Amino acid sequence: MEENYNSKIHRSIVLYGAKILREQAQEVDLSGEGVLSPQIKNIIDSLFHLSNAAEGIGLAAPQIGESLRIFIVSAALLPEGEGMAKDFRRVCINPQLIWQSKELSTYEEGCLSIPGIRAPITRPKQVELSYVDEHGKSIKETFDDLPARVVQHEYDHLEGKLFIDYLSPLKRRLLKKKLNQIRDGIEPQKPETQN
Ligand SMILES: [Zn+2]
Repeated sequence: MEENYNSKIHRSIVLYGAKILREQAQEVDLSGEGVLSPQIKNIIDSLFHLSNAAEGIGLAAPQIGESLRIFIVSAALLPEGEGMAKDFRRVCINPQLIWQSKELSTYEEGCLSIPGIRAPITRPKQVELSYVDEHGKSIKETFDDLPARVVQHEYDHLEGKLFIDYLSPLKRRLLKKKLNQIRDGIEPQKPETQN
């Protein structure tokens, strides 16, 4: 069976309207003494591959059809000086938000699962997260500014939450037609840098 995990499993980014994007993702079983299974490694590879291919800066497992508590952040394709170092790269498994700053910041967000829609979203400026990395190591890390924003956006995906949930009812009503088009698979526009 292991060969199956090593061979390329066809995955693609799941779009708005898919049920999995609204589900609470499952904890990853890490009982194997810190060693990640080939299946989990394969999912991590797919997350980086698909995020980069779509010029995103982060992607969560539910967005590729896997209801597991894993997300990645990758600034590899972010233009220089856009708020994250080019080599900023994280794999967060079973993350837990342990602290959020009172200070807030507002920044325009997008989502690879909701192509063509962007909106300013207000979130805590800093967060502290505990997670297990791709080597099975437990980490506690504080994120600031853009990395903090991406981490919160991706964490939300594991809770079945989308950035549009933060918009006012009026704003959501204005976006309803576009959202329905994405849901119904009608010509999703090519996303710009999104997460
Ligand atoms: Zn997203």
